[in-house]
Order: sequence, then structure tokens, then C-alpha cells
Amino acid sequence: MSSTRTIKAIGIKSQGELDVIEELELSAPTPRDDQVVIKVEYAGVNFIDTYERAGVYKVTAFPKILGKEAAGTVISLPTSRAVTEDNEYQLRNLAIGDRVVTIDDGLFAEEIAVPWSKVVKLPDNVTTKVAAASALQGQTAMTFATEAYDIQKDDIILVYSAAGGVGINLTQIAASRGATVIATVSSEVKTEVARANGAKHVINTSEQNVVDEVLKITNREGVHAVFDGVGKDTFEDNFKIIRRKGTFVSLGNASGVPPLFQPLRLGEKNIKLVRPRLFGYITTPEEIRTYQNKYDALLGSGVVKPVIYKEYPFTAEGVKQSQIDITSRGTIGKLILKVA
Ligand code: NDP
Repeated sequence: MSSTRTIKAIGIKSQGELDVIEELELSAPTPRDDQVVIKVEYAGVNFIDTYERAGVYKVTAFPKILGKEAAGTVISLPTSRAVTEDNEYQLRNLAIGDRVVTIDDGLFAEEIAVPWSKVVKLPDNVTTKVAAASALQGQTAMTFATEAYDIQKDDIILVYSAAGGVGINLTQIAASRGATVIATVSSEVKTEVARANGAKHVINTSEQNVVDEVLKITNREGVHAVFDGVGKDTFEDNFKIIRRKGTFVSLGNASGVPPLFQPLRLGEKNIKLVRPRLFGYITTPEEIRTYQNKYDALLGSGVVKPVIYKEYPFTAEGVKQSQIDITSRGTIGKLILKVA
């Protein structure tokens, strides 16, 4: 039986231009017995929201609520005995009123019902605002910098769009491990941001050629790894700037989806190419809790410091504006929605 109380959500009824984004009035969630209900305070904006709205990633069921990360307070807990007796559930130690964060699908809503395994309690020193501003991009950076290519001290790493949400986190994490970060950004103001977050060399792509600069900085040897969320526009260049036995982490499509290519090309320098998605690294309940706790520890110790660009209202216009801004190349750090 669905509730008669209604809540606001923001989503799409078809894919296309910005005007497909609309406010939806939905019944308040009636959770399954394995779900936690969260009253959302803040939700994070991510590039993937634009892919889902525009059709880069196909959506087949409508209406589709946008949003992949949210933080708020627990208003109801799972009732299933199988859940409450589960060791991993007990480790979460969840209670009504706890401040929590979740990464899942369809989270731009005032109240959300999510599987307990995706809900992690926040430590006292992490606010719901910081959690919503950091969980998805932060864990992307942390898992990719560990599992896609394990960044080591003295590595030379290229981070594209280093003043963006993922880019700032990657730069901070790589620098904290003693790697040398070469960052790309597209403006002068972003150059300072990349430097302040730990990049040793910054290439301004509106004035400089990335291949020339990277080869100059590395004495023509190239970098140990490239973290590339730009995609189509930078794909080819990466083959010129990765060193022998280096790793190409293709992590996004901000400029469009990269072209098809022949695997034989990897043999020219014995390069590894990986194309991970965050959700493939945080799949099991244990992975979800462990990575969120590890990221919270990085936040707590100051290794990572989220940079919040702007807070948007929880309206269709607010979400539209966030999508205009994140695709405009003008944002620095994280965009968030203030839901309550
Ligand atoms: P950002 O905050 O980094 O914003 C996007 C940035 O991309 C822009 O500021 C801009 O920085 C850069 N960019 C480069 N080329 C273009 C272009 N043609 N159009 C628009 N922007 C461009 O966003 P996120 O941190 O949320 O995401 C960064 C990348 O990481 C995206 O590709 C995203 O899809 C990917 N990602 C992948 C995940 C995964 O699981 N694989 C998870 C999370 C994010 P500049 O102009 O300085 O280059």
C-alpha cells in the first residue's frame, strides 16, 4: 500500500535537452523490509546526471528520478530479521536520527528508501553537507587511485580537469601519497586551485598543448598513469604521453564518448587501459562500508578537503542550472542541492 503523503522529487520523463528535467510529486516511500528511509538534507550533483538526462547513458524506465548521492537523517530502519541479524548490518549500528550518506540511484527526492547495505553512518566531524559534497567523487578518486591504478610515491600522474570534483580529490590523494601530479585545467583561475590542492605542474589547456607540456616535464618519458574524465577529446593524446608499461584510466566522457580502438595499439608501449565505474568497486556491503569509512578518515585527517562551488535550490530550475554549470567548464569543485 502506498502512502498518501507526498514528497517532491526531481527527474525526467524522457531524455533530451534541459527542459526534460521536472519536479515530480510522488507518494512518500513505503520501504521494503530491507530498506532504510532517509530524510534528505543535501544531494550531490555529478556529471552522470547530465549523461542520464541527455541520453549518453540510456534510460529505459520513466519517470526516472535523477541523483546518485545524498546525505540526511534516518527516519526508518529495516524490519527484516535476516537484515537485523546480519553481521554487516550490525556493524553499521544504525539508529533513527543518525546522520548518514548513501550512493545509489534516484536520490533527488525529499525522502528516499535505499537498501541498508548502501547506507553508512557519518562520523561526528563530517556534516551531511560535506558528505553529499564528497561521497561519490571522493570515492571515485579513492577507488580508482587504488584499484584502477595504485598510485605510488614518486609516480608521475596526469590528472585531467584537476579543478573539478573528481579531479580535486584525485590530486589531493595522489599528492598525499608522494606522487608528482601534472594537472590540466582550462582557465587561469583553475590553475591556482589545482596548485593549491597539490599539483606540482599545471597545464592550462586553453593556452598550452598537453602532449608537448607533459613530454617536456617528464623528459619525454611520459607519465606512469593518466586519469582522464574528458574522454573523446583527449583519448588519442594519452597514447603519446603514457610511458612504457603505464596505465590509462579512462574514467569519463565530459567531451563525449571515446572512439573505438584496436587493442593492438596497447602493445606499442605495453600500456594497460582500464575503464572502471565506481559502482563496480563499491558493490558488496563490506566494500561500501569500508570505502566510505576510509574516505571519511581521509576527510577527518585533512588529506582530502572538499571544495564546494555552489549550493542550488531543490527545484527543477536548480537542477537545470546545476547541469548548465557543470557542463560549462566554469565550475570549481562540487555542486550540491540543498534539499531540506
Ligand atoms: P567536474 O566537476 O570535473 O566537471 C566537469 C569538468 O570536465 C569541467 O569543469 C571541465 O574542466 C571538464 N571538461 C573537459 N572537457 C569538457 C567538455 N567538453 N565539456 C564539459 N566539461 C569538460 O565533474 P565530475 O567531477 O563530476 O566528473 C569528472 C569526470 O569524472 C566526468 O567525466 C565524469 O563522468 C567522471 N566520473 C566517472 C565516474 C565513474 O564511475 N567512472 C564516477 C564519477 C565521475 P576543465 O575545463 O578544467 O577541463
